Amino acid sequence: MFKINEHYGQLNESYLFSTISKKIAAYAAAHPDAKIIRMGIGDVTLPLSPAIIKALHESVDEMGAKATFRGYGPEQGYEFLRNKIAETDFRNRGINIDADEIFVSDGSKSDTGNIGDILGENNTVAITDPVYPVYLDTNIMRIGQSEKIHFLASNASNNFLPEIPNQKIDVIYLCYPNNPTGTVMTKAQLEKWVEYARKNDSLILFDAAYEAFITENDVPHSIFEIEGAETCAIEFRSFSKNAGFTGLRCSYTVVPKALKATNNKGEKIALHALWNRRQSTKFNGTPYIVQRGAEAVYSPEGQQETKALVAYYMENAKTIRKGLLEKGWTIYGGANAPYIWVQCPAEASDSWGFFDRLLDECHVVGTPGVGFGKNGEGYFRFSSFNSHENTKEAIERIKNWKI
Ligand code: PLP
Repeated sequence: MFKINEHYGQLNESYLFSTISKKIAAYAAAHPDAKIIRMGIGDVTLPLSPAIIKALHESVDEMGAKATFRGYGPEQGYEFLRNKIAETDFRNRGINIDADEIFVSDGSKSDTGNIGDILGENNTVAITDPVYPVYLDTNIMRIGQSEKIHFLASNASNNFLPEIPNQKIDVIYLCYPNNPTGTVMTKAQLEKWVEYARKNDSLILFDAAYEAFITENDVPHSIFEIEGAETCAIEFRSFSKNAGFTGLRCSYTVVPKALKATNNKGEKIALHALWNRRQSTKFNGTPYIVQRGAEAVYSPEGQQETKALVAYYMENAKTIRKGLLEKGWTIYGGANAPYIWVQCPAEASDSWGFFDRLLDECHVVGTPGVGFGKNGEGYFRFSSFNSHENTKEAIERIKNWKI
């Protein structure tokens, strides 16, 4: 009999969002009049903006005309999009990234999950706890539960920003602005990680999916704002949250040409060539129509409209922060990220106890922090992806809550 990849049996069952859905469904069935407000979800709620819709329609028409129909596109993405990305997201910000170093993809989930394909199995890997679960699960799928996987604790004692490891780690996943905690690193803090990586010949996998939500000045939008990062980092960016592409699917990954690793013979190998080989073998490109939609994000109208989407969600983040601070709760994040990370009040037994009481007594849903790792126990994530009306009402209910 053929065998399975045994590592799959070592994965923690991912009960989090299915348990949440089941609990909400059961509660709604038993309390049909309850107006439940969902602040747990990490998915956008506003529709695609007009500039993007226009570009999508136009490219659909192109695909239906003999002269402009397109089949397979370049695996790395069309130049029209890569040029816009390089210019707008990097060069205009003084960062020297070339269009050739950008790989367009169908999502940062795929890319952060697949990047391990080009890395050696014996690398030590560091993952923050709590964490966006994809980094951990895809490492377990690849190398199994292993002592090579190290956890960097993010907790109240370090303001949910992990300490730099005091041992040599080969591959480090960092996500800032952070999901789930909403915390960010200042430029000076990120510089220390880059310094560590360069000193230890480590690779930083930097997930900047929430970069557009940064409002403060000394928070880097890209790891490549830090000198020398092009020799030690890969960056993942997504159109999901800044432009509402969660259902459309488009992202990109920056693999600088200066980034090298060694093979067993001690030769220096460019990761750019490896990722190119991996993508052109296993991926046939993001749809042309979608890439035209993403290109429209960079048009003057697209920039204005997508900034307005982000501002809309950040207004909710402000409402949540203000309301919960007034209630006297301890909170993190929400100033440069769409997530607010809340310490569960002492009356709640734990993250799930808090979830149950919040649902039952306020008809509000969030995400229990323990679902993102053991350091998330006792914490709770509120998302600002919702309407202003719902957010205000949810916060009013919480403020009036006798807890
Ligand atoms: N990275 C982080 C930190 C996320 O929170 C998410 C989605 O929630 C993603 C990546 C996935 O993004 P995409 O929709 O591009 O796959």
